[in-house]
Amino acid sequence: MAYIEPAPIKDKENPLESMMSRFDAAVEILGISEEMYYILKVPARQVIVGLPVTMDNGKIKVFEGYRVIHSTILGPGKGGIRFDPAVNLDEVRALAAWMTWKCAVVDIPYGGAKGGIACNPREMSAGEMERLMRAYTISMLDIFGPDKDIPAPDMGTGPREMAWLMDEFSKAKGMTINGVVTGKPLVLGGSLGRTEATGRGVMVSALAGMDKLRLNPYRATAAVQGFGNVGSHAAQLLQEKGVTICGISDISGAYYNSRGIDIEKAIAYRNQNGGTLEGFKEADLISNEELLALNVDVLVPAAKEDVITDDNAGNIQAKLIIEGANGPTSASADKIINEKGIMVVPDILANAGGVTVSYFEWVQNRIGYKWTLDRINRRTDRIMKDSFDKVFETSQKYKVPMRLAAYIVAIDKVASTYKFRGGYG
Ligand code: NAD
Repeated sequence: MAYIEPAPIKDKENPLESMMSRFDAAVEILGISEEMYYILKVPARQVIVGLPVTMDNGKIKVFEGYRVIHSTILGPGKGGIRFDPAVNLDEVRALAAWMTWKCAVVDIPYGGAKGGIACNPREMSAGEMERLMRAYTISMLDIFGPDKDIPAPDMGTGPREMAWLMDEFSKAKGMTINGVVTGKPLVLGGSLGRTEATGRGVMVSALAGMDKLRLNPYRATAAVQGFGNVGSHAAQLLQEKGVTICGISDISGAYYNSRGIDIEKAIAYRNQNGGTLEGFKEADLISNEELLALNVDVLVPAAKEDVITDDNAGNIQAKLIIEGANGPTSASADKIINEKGIMVVPDILANAGGVTVSYFEWVQNRIGYKWTLDRINRRTDRIMKDSFDKVFETSQKYKVPMRLAAYIVAIDKVASTYKFRGGYG
């Protein structure tokens, strides 16, 4: 089977277009029919709601909210709720599809969904946020449900908003239904291990990739871009496994020390320093561009989308890239990276530890029991490792890079499930 290189996209700033170009390439390799292509591509359900909310000044403001369930072929919809001024239906639609492939690649029984409200959480009081979240929940009463569609946090929302959603939904249904949403505070049925889950999955993916490349973690070096939830946990866990972390970075710049950076110290510094690494003295200040080009074995982009492009991919020296962030590599950079023989563990696989522990949260809610952290970590590690192995085997079978292999695994799973279930056609 020939490997069809995804067509480079014109708009480099659009990671969702990048994702769709890889989807198309995988569909072509699998030889999927035109009918199935549209079954997989067109969202199952798209909902737009108007949300009148009384603001603190007594005036009513009407917000527009969205929920797109891209697919329910594998199970109920699953995906976060984004509060951001730039939210629109197109974006939510694409993010929902992304969730379908992410859940399918790690083989958890969910479809894909995403929600959003065009609003600016930085300019809203807690009371305004609460009224907005409750209004959104009531509008989505027939959409959400532990067996139908299970939201979670995304940009601009967190455990606080999920608690409001769970409360409003439960009140409307006349009983406590905590499995309607994940990413809740621990006391409301949130799961242990959720905070560090994505970083943990990144660590497991990195070790699995190092093993294939015969890199000994105790002799390997790494650089991590982004020092938020994903990046800092990934760096800490990799260091615990023996990897020397030579470079870390955040929005303030990048910090390099060839002998390695003590990640515990860096986290403590960030926590006491208003959340940034600015002024961190245990390493030399370099730029984020220089960090990407460091002479290390492993590179972990864990900050934001589209940081590796055709402009800088040629400078990368790492042998292994683990995509902690969503969409950090533009489609146009894929070709350069593949030609250089760099192994990439793609976002839909590498950062799926988060949705995996969200799934565990839902399972615990449904059985009315709490698992220990140890059990959660062991199960997360197993799912991540098994998924890595499956994608690796697929990449060998079709002689394609890991990214395309991940899409092949995901699309094949959803398409074959659809065939078994049968449609109306
Ligand atoms: P975060 O807000 O906690 O951290 C982001 C970090 O990136 C911060 O340290 C910030 O300073 C840094 N950053 C921002 N812009 C930067 C730039 N231009 N250069 C260098 N650093 C920059 O976010 P997070 O939750 O860690 O998410 C990071 C990425 O991982 C996002 O792409 C997100 O979609 C993805 N992701 C997160 C999760 C999760 O569970 N948190 C799950 C899957 C995917």
